[in-house]
Amino acid sequence: MRAVQVRSPGADFELVNREIPEPRENEVLLRIDACGICHGDAVAKEGHFPGLSYPRVPGHEVVGVIEKTGALVSDWQTGQRVGVGWHGGHCFHCSACRKGEFWACENTLTTGLSTDGGYADYMTARAEVLVAIPQELSSVEAAPLLCAGSTSFGALRKSGAQGGDLVAIHGFGGLGHLAVQYAVRLGFRTVVLTRGKEKQELARTLGAHACIDTSAGDPVKELRKMGGARVILCLAPDSNAIGQLVGGLGRGGQAIIITYAGAPMQLPPALLMRGGQSIRGWVGGNMADTLSFSILFKVVPMVEVFPLEQAALAFEKMMSGKVHFRSVLKMHD
Ligand SMILES: [Zn+2]
Ligand SMILES: [Zn+2]
Repeated sequence: MRAVQVRSPGADFELVNREIPEPRENEVLLRIDACGICHGDAVAKEGHFPGLSYPRVPGHEVVGVIEKTGALVSDWQTGQRVGVGWHGGHCFHCSACRKGEFWACENTLTTGLSTDGGYADYMTARAEVLVAIPQELSSVEAAPLLCAGSTSFGALRKSGAQGGDLVAIHGFGGLGHLAVQYAVRLGFRTVVLTRGKEKQELARTLGAHACIDTSAGDPVKELRKMGGARVILCLAPDSNAIGQLVGGLGRGGQAIIITYAGAPMQLPPALLMRGGQSIRGWVGGNMADTLSFSILFKVVPMVEVFPLEQAALAFEKMMSGKVHFRSVLKMHD
């Protein structure tokens, strides 16, 4: 099979031929249709994660068809079309798993980081993390919903914001263009914060009620003028900007970070005492709920499709923010 791997941290992507992997007893073998390219893949590419081993095939927005099942897999059949996201498996016996908090598993596996992911013709995946892909969605449409979609939908849905509350989306790319669609459909007064004016029209077309150009004025002032945000969803990997935006939260507001920003964040802690504001992180979300909500309310990702051979180009366009709005690898016709 073909696979695009990273040989060592920071190395270029390379297209290689590999043996098709054999599923273990609790795994399935997927023939991959499509794999979205996520900012999280940079973690595998650059090695910003403890305990990674290489070479590694990235990719955690994977849709494929089950070709084989391991001996212990009872609830999935060959021929079913399924998806795999960031969460690649849990142990079922650590203290978090015993409470059903599988996302917090102490022995968690991450797709495309601790196991090989979807930049390939085939991959194996643990049965407990699969989601069925409804027929209403093509594989290319479904792939970005598995990480970008489920993360932004999950963060918004669990944020505590209620209908009519002001929700600010900071960053309008792969995550942002989906987050706007979810925020509007969840009933929030949705404002998009983005650099420049060029994306504003599209943001409004997707339903945004207002846009703030972060390069033109002071977004904190603008948010305060609007009454202060109940939620600021931080999607742009810019620690400085996140620290500053906290000032735009209203009473009880929270900044929710769902982007990977490694640099330290600076802000006066007293800023959080005006009205009990908070900052929290969020990873993942329920993929099945995301898919059914997306179908019901017609949330559709806008994608550029690339063949597997062009994974490096597709990744580069994602990293530089030049893709509109999600790169998706399509493995075959
Ligand atoms: Zn991701
Ligand atoms: Zn566990």
